[in-house]
Order: sequence, then C-alpha cells, then structure tokens
Amino acid sequence: MEVVSRIVTLQKALAAVRGKGRIGLVPTMGAFHAGHCALMRQARRECDFVVVSLFINPTQFGPQEDYAAYPRHLASDRKQAQATGVDLLWTPTVAAMYPPDNQTHVDVGPIARQWEGESRPGHFEGVATIVAKLFCIVRPNRAYFGRKDYQQTCVIRQMTRDLHLGVALRILPTVREADGLALSSRNERLSPAERQAAPTLYQALMMARQAAQCGERRAKALCAHVRRHIQSSPLFHIDYIALCHPDTLDALGRLERTAVLLVAARIGAVRLIDNQILSAS
Ligand code: AMP
Repeated sequence: MEVVSRIVTLQKALAAVRGKGRIGLVPTMGAFHAGHCALMRQARRECDFVVVSLFINPTQFGPQEDYAAYPRHLASDRKQAQATGVDLLWTPTVAAMYPPDNQTHVDVGPIARQWEGESRPGHFEGVATIVAKLFCIVRPNRAYFGRKDYQQTCVIRQMTRDLHLGVALRILPTVREADGLALSSRNERLSPAERQAAPTLYQALMMARQAAQCGERRAKALCAHVRRHIQSSPLFHIDYIALCHPDTLDALGRLERTAVLLVAARIGAVRLIDNQILSAS
C-alpha cells in the first residue's frame, strides 16, 4: 500500500491506473474501526484500485465542536488499511485542501438544512465541499459511504446528482458493537458509564421498529417510543427524533411504505447519531 500526502503524487499514481479498471474511493476522517473497514473491503471487492482518503476536515466542525479533540491514530490506521487490501492511503494536509485563497463552498440546499444541518450550522456545507473536492481530485468510479450517517448520504447523493459528478455511490449498512451501539470514532471518548448507557439509542430505535411491526403508523407515537426509552437513561440529552421520508428527509406524519427514523442525542461531551429504516409492510 502506498501512503501519499501530496495531490500531485496521488494523481500520478491514479494516472497509471485510470482507464484500466474501476477506481474506488473511501472518504474517511481516520481512527478506523470495523465500519470503515467494511467500506474498504467492499471497495476492494468491487474495484481494481482502492483509494482511502484520511482527512479530518476542519470546515465540517462548528466552532464549539471537537475538531481539536477528534481522535488521530495514523499508525494504526495505516496498518488496518494495509490489512484490508487498500492500494493507496491519501492523507492530504489542510493547507492543500484549503489553500489561503480558497473561496468556493458547496451549499446543497434544503436537504442539508434540516436535522443535523439545523443542529450543526455549516456542517453539511463543510461535508459537501470536502467531498466535492475529493471527487474532483480522485475522480473515482465509485465512492463508499456508511448508512450510519444517513443524512450525509442524502446530501452527497443530491450534490453528486446536481453537479453531475459522475460517481456511483455505494451506501453500506451500519456496523454495530454486539450491544447495538453504532461504531463511531467518537465512541472512544465515552466514559465507562457513558459507554454502558450508549446502546440505549439503538434499543430505542428497535422499540419503535417493533411498534411499527405491530401496526403503529403515527409518527408522533413512534417518536414517543424512542423518546421514552432514551429518557430512561439520565445521561442522555436528546437533540432530535424524527420520522422522515427516506429520500427527501421531510418529516412525515405517518409511516406509509418506507421511512427513516433519525435520532441525535448527546451523552456527556459526545454527540451520537443513529437511524433505522422502518417499513409499513
Ligand atoms: P468518518 O471517518 O466518521 O467520517 O466516516 C467515514 C465513513 O465511514 C462515512 O461514510 C461513515 O458513514 C462511515 N461509517 C462510520 N461509522 C460507520 C459504521 N458504524 N458503520 C458503517 N459505516 C460507518
């Protein structure tokens, strides 16, 4: 596996393989866990040349957020990427991605303004901007994202379509701990007590799913199941719970066909998000 930082070096390596097979890109912020590795493995299966970008993107963090405290584990990330069969690990610098004269930002629109977008102003502008840059620099055939960040996948899909970026998106299921907690680089910042309480979020989603399976269709009632269960743990502060259209993310009054239940909550200093697809059938 090659590890490169400079954009020109990356593009030289890509020039040697472009046109000869499929190029796959897995965008990450590092501190790899089994969720990242699942994306890399899928890319390995489907592509001839696999690039993993590792870049902690400052523009997607708000001023009060955890950019400085975000976990950084380059040595172990390298080992894991290599073990997963990645061809090239790309670790650009902030100065290369955002030179001092950078002016352009990508503002996707309404789909990026609700839920996470409302709680974290500017977050999706940062995400869309960096993903657009990564796509333009790598020009992959396919890019791999996790369903754990559900709204992020919707925002990137919208942007990719609107800007005709020509990248096929592959969205893979959320990888979880045995107790249901969605893997996240931020989980390592949970105290033992917080870690113990953290699966409450997933359990709450499972309760709503069970209610839906038993015939509950009212969004308010489904969200109330989630709220009640999360509130059973005093460590959580709920940010939002919403039943949404799976593509537009508009809030729904009732579950008809398919919907996504989104939840965001803070536990201690860590903000967790999770989601569950619900089906009326
Ligand atoms: P991050 O490094 O957190 O920006 O995540 C990089 C990619 O991995 C994103 O597409 C995430 O959605 C995905 N990802 C993060 N956690 C998980 C997980 N538990 N299961 C599946 N994919 C994940």
